[in-house]
Amino acid sequence: MGKKKDEATPTDPKRAQDPTTPEPSVESRRRFLKGGLLWGVGLGAGAKLALGCTQPEAHAPEATPSPCPACECPPPPPAAEAVVAKPATAESSALRAVRFNPWPITTPAPVYYTRITEGQPLSLWAEKTDALFKRLDPQSVIAKNDLVAVKQHFGEAGNEGYIRPEITRKVIDEIKRLGGKPMLVETNTLYAGSRTNTHDHLLTAYDHGFTLEKVGAPVAILDGLAGQIQQGVAIPGKHFSVAFVASDVLFYQGLVVLSHVKGHGLSGFGGALKNLAMGLSSRAGKLAQHSDFTPFIDGEKCTHCGDCPVWCPPGSLHMRNERLQFDETTCIGCGQCLTVCRYGAIQNQSPRTEANAFMEKMAEYALAAAAHFQGKALYVNLVNHVSKRCDCARGDNPVMAPDVGIFASRDPVAVDQASLDISRTVWGKDPFHQLYPGVDGEVTIQHAAKLGLGTTQYTLIEV
Ligand code: SF4
Ligand code: SF4
Repeated sequence: MGKKKDEATPTDPKRAQDPTTPEPSVESRRRFLKGGLLWGVGLGAGAKLALGCTQPEAHAPEATPSPCPACECPPPPPAAEAVVAKPATAESSALRAVRFNPWPITTPAPVYYTRITEGQPLSLWAEKTDALFKRLDPQSVIAKNDLVAVKQHFGEAGNEGYIRPEITRKVIDEIKRLGGKPMLVETNTLYAGSRTNTHDHLLTAYDHGFTLEKVGAPVAILDGLAGQIQQGVAIPGKHFSVAFVASDVLFYQGLVVLSHVKGHGLSGFGGALKNLAMGLSSRAGKLAQHSDFTPFIDGEKCTHCGDCPVWCPPGSLHMRNERLQFDETTCIGCGQCLTVCRYGAIQNQSPRTEANAFMEKMAEYALAAAAHFQGKALYVNLVNHVSKRCDCARGDNPVMAPDVGIFASRDPVAVDQASLDISRTVWGKDPFHQLYPGVDGEVTIQHAAKLGLGTTQYTLIEV
């Protein structure tokens, strides 16, 4: 039943006491909405006063919570709620969370593929990336003036595996041709390195050639100066009901994910799903995904080179008398030491079920990162310079398998599945499994499919 026009509302206590009290004017309601919005972003009751109230004392915490007699601006929220900044928790973020809503998945998903053999020039990779990207029908998801996030890894300082700016440029140019506004985007890292904060991260990106002149788009780091700005996304996960993604992700209208396929100690291999999951989460989100890792240091393999302490965020690894020391009590399980050790001296001593849990968690974060785009996303995987370790590793990162080619799809699950299947066929073996026998990278793919992020069924279209 509809409410009568002059019926008192719970937000109007004065009228509740005396129904003859006149309703606030349209203008004062408008001010209320405007003030409420500002309060919602953290300016509190003071913002409302700034909008024109002539009797600020009427808003003192001890004053009767009623519309202000001077200007009819409505009552402020309780002072305690207005000023106390509560730390983000899964529960509090869930209240204002973006929610995952399923979108239609095409099964089987078309995956476009171009075979490129070892030793081909960069110009060929760029030309073929351009051709495959256009096959994805980008005009159907990129509209004029859309802000389009182009997510790729810029490579840690000294790393050689990242996708080169000349290739990225082709995608950027096509987005601009369609009237979109591309930005090259990334998030800061959990570990201590050359991309831990926005200042260092941007300089690393520029050093690697991701300048406006070279790629034709500005670079944006999406999670604040130190990886701290996040938004909860409600997801129907096995491990998480809320995942923390970099806030700015949610302000883009389109997403393109360019991924370098390579080995990874914790997930077997990295492709589009890992790029979404780790690459678009906040620092807290990255930590939440890594929480099942427990390092074991093999004293026989450790050369005490001193690399891993440099990367260990809480300083659990350190050198004393040129010998590596490990303080298990402060370790946060970020897994970075495993990634950076070139001698295989660090392993995950967590049981297999926990290694699988890490990959399932990654799939859930990939779902959260993609949820906002509702299928308005395009994925390109380059299987070239297939290194043993991920692009986060600094310095020496040897290639483990020959080049295969490029895969492109509108489905992140299908593009990773096809990249893995076809590469195994070309190589005649699974080098990821050989290198990381305790890790089955397909766990991520299968869990992502189960969650509704995409399908493992695909039709391969050779271009
Ligand atoms: S990086 Fe590896 S070899 Fe070097 S100190 Fe750490 S565990 Fe030892
Ligand atoms: S020792 Fe622990 S905290 Fe340090 S890098 Fe390794 S996993 Fe991360």
